[in-house]
Amino acid sequence: MNIAFIAHDRKKEEMVNFVIAYEYVFKDHTLYSTGTTGTRIMEQTGLSIHRFMSGPLGGDQQIGAMVAQNEMDLIIFLRDPLMAQPHEPDIIALLRLCDVQGIPVATNIATGELLVHSLQRGEFGWRELVHKYKPGEQS
Ligand code: PGA
Repeated sequence: MNIAFIAHDRKKEEMVNFVIAYEYVFKDHTLYSTGTTGTRIMEQTGLSIHRFMSGPLGGDQQIGAMVAQNEMDLIIFLRDPLMAQPHEPDIIALLRLCDVQGIPVATNIATGELLVHSLQRGEFGWRELVHKYKPGEQS
């Protein structure tokens, strides 16, 4: 599965601890992240992550481009609900595209836990079917 991690600054420690806890699950998947989030995770785990640009510089949009093509299977996006973000429009756009494609996205740790347990139980098989039968690009 293609899995993306994004965490706002005050959520980065929570994200790192979450990924450490489930490193044994995530190691079997292809991992993506925004720039700083990925750097922090890689510093503290043995995971290899494809890092896009930092979120405020366009990283959310780069992940959004994969979502638009239905190529992302799961997103853990720990948002800071108490701090305004300069790239709020990018964040809304990413979440909108997740809803367009029906991509599982967790915006808090509780939902993240549920999704990772679901992933562990092999309940993301339907995403393999999406990849297999993905229609070609439409004009
Ligand atoms: P960052 O981006 O991982 O580069 O900090 C996350 C964000 O703020 O969207």
